[in-house]
Amino acid sequence: MSKEFGSGSSQACASCKHQRKKCEETCELAPFFPASRYREFQNAHKLFGVSNIQKIINSVDPSQRKEAAESILIEGNIRSNDPVHGCLGVVRNLKSQIEYYEKELGAVNQQLPFFRDKEKQHQHHAAPRASRKQPLEFGSDEEEESVDVSSLKGKKI
Ligand SMILES: [Zn+2]
Repeated sequence: MSKEFGSGSSQACASCKHQRKKCEETCELAPFFPASRYREFQNAHKLFGVSNIQKIINSVDPSQRKEAAESILIEGNIRSNDPVHGCLGVVRNLKSQIEYYEKELGAVNQQLPFFRDKEKQHQHHAAPRASRKQPLEFGSDEEEESVDVSSLKGKKI
């Protein structure tokens, strides 16, 4: 086997290279897992196993095999980077970002009528400074929110 691998060209696909076998012209995985993605394939192998990767690819419509292979490689990479949470960690992170920005959007939408009103008043009678009301509660809200933003920014995927 190792002799075959040795004599085989370095062009063996990632799957054949991993299995130490010669990559034939008919190799079904070669189009999806080129030698250049060997390391990524190893990550995917740790997660799924070669035979399951083959099964997944074969179970998918040929038009979607490229995408399925890409997905398998990405999942393997993510699991390798985060063995505890894997893709779930990414999903959770994105979900919490969505929740955060939805909250922020809600807060901004709540403030909008106030500022539209203020703008109108300003246009209509160019009110003197002293009569303007300070939106104190908005100011303090904003401060809290911006602290959250900076803590979120550090959590980039
Ligand atoms: Zn191959």
